[in-house]
Amino acid sequence: MARPPWRAHTCLAALLALAACDTVTARNVSLDAGLLVDGAESSDGTIVNDRGRTREGSGEVELNVGRLASAAAPNRNEAVGFGQNRAPRRADLPWTSGGGDRFFLSLGDQLRLPATVWIVQGPFPAQRDHAFIAALNAVVIWSRERMGTMLTDFQIKDATADPDIDNALLNSTGGDNRNWNDFSTKIGFDAKRINIYWINTVEGSTTTGWSDFGARIVMGKDTGDELLVHELGHAFSLQHPQGCGGSTAQFDPTNVMWPCSDSRAFLTEGQIFRGHFNPASTINSLYGARPDQPTAGCQGAGQTAECPALERRLWADGGYPAN
Ligand SMILES: [Zn+2]
Repeated sequence: MARPPWRAHTCLAALLALAACDTVTARNVSLDAGLLVDGAESSDGTIVNDRGRTREGSGEVELNVGRLASAAAPNRNEAVGFGQNRAPRRADLPWTSGGGDRFFLSLGDQLRLPATVWIVQGPFPAQRDHAFIAALNAVVIWSRERMGTMLTDFQIKDATADPDIDNALLNSTGGDNRNWNDFSTKIGFDAKRINIYWINTVEGSTTTGWSDFGARIVMGKDTGDELLVHELGHAFSLQHPQGCGGSTAQFDPTNVMWPCSDSRAFLTEGQIFRGHFNPASTINSLYGARPDQPTAGCQGAGQTAECPALERRLWADGGYPAN
């Protein structure tokens, strides 16, 4: 695949200045690597926040990042790396002003997250298949979108004959304030994993689901196969980019976190960063799947020195190009 023209310009500029580009070599690359780079322009000190770079390859992949010098706090000198089937990682990069800095950033192995489905509303064989297909859809979207997560030890349990099942459990209402503990105590709860209760209706609809932004999800009996990845996104602390309605300049119903959709497929790098780095994400708070890795509180959608904007894309998402 041809390199995009901006990369040629970057190196041409460096050659004309008789100084080498700075580079970051991504390690543990599966198929491609992308960077959001922070620092300051070597030439005039202009702050660089989330400069994007991408390149295909595997193993070690070197990316030119321009000519950077260190930026003063609260600006940052770092890169966040993304890639297919890899968890995003952040590295501090102490740029020097002389040019030719060479740094390394190792992408993380895919995070393997266990989960349990409790089939509360039968028939069990049909709803077991329903849950399995929804889970398969989630891991395909995660792989294609570089979420860096994978389901493992995915258990589907038959709870349809549980004597504690009552109408309030089968047809759950209450929004964020539903009685989540009833599911844990009456149906069951496996610790250190997300528990998904497949019931009849949620808020009166068989096609609705809900997350407690923690270890519990409820799913209606006829939910679309792309809803589970959305509810898992809530468990990773992600919010809706806006309410139901028309598209925005940066999001439409093809985004996984769009609230009303049957065509969810894409995640931005801004969303993936938040899912991994927010302390409240179950990736950190429940699974502890990133020991010794930094966190960053990025609940808002805006860009800061530490947080990329929610809509930031290193790769295109359907009709939305890299931005
Ligand atoms: Zn939602």
